[in-house]
Amino acid sequence: MEGPLRRPLDVAGSESETAKDGFPEIAMSSFFASRHMPCADCGASVAAEERDEHTCDPERVLEFRLFQLRDGVAGFDTDLRGYLDSPEGRFEQWLAERDRPSS
Ligand SMILES: [Zn+2]
Repeated sequence: MEGPLRRPLDVAGSESETAKDGFPEIAMSSFFASRHMPCADCGASVAAEERDEHTCDPERVLEFRLFQLRDGVAGFDTDLRGYLDSPEGRFEQWLAERDRPSS
């Protein structure tokens, strides 16, 4: 008598899966439907039809540049870590290790 008992459980399982997967899909489609694009100079969200009239707020441009700068610093950290993982970087580390005077 296992068969009839198992079936309702399977249905409940697939139902909760659909509900879980449904949410991100709705969020994604509304994201792509948006006609707002971030301005390349100040990062402001500008509607496609307002792009021509948009003027950047100088204060916002400055903040946006600083934000990009901070992003670049974080990128450098990642680049360095990537370099240390490369064969070249590992060779440099091996050289540094080898040249270290033994105590
Ligand atoms: Zn702008």
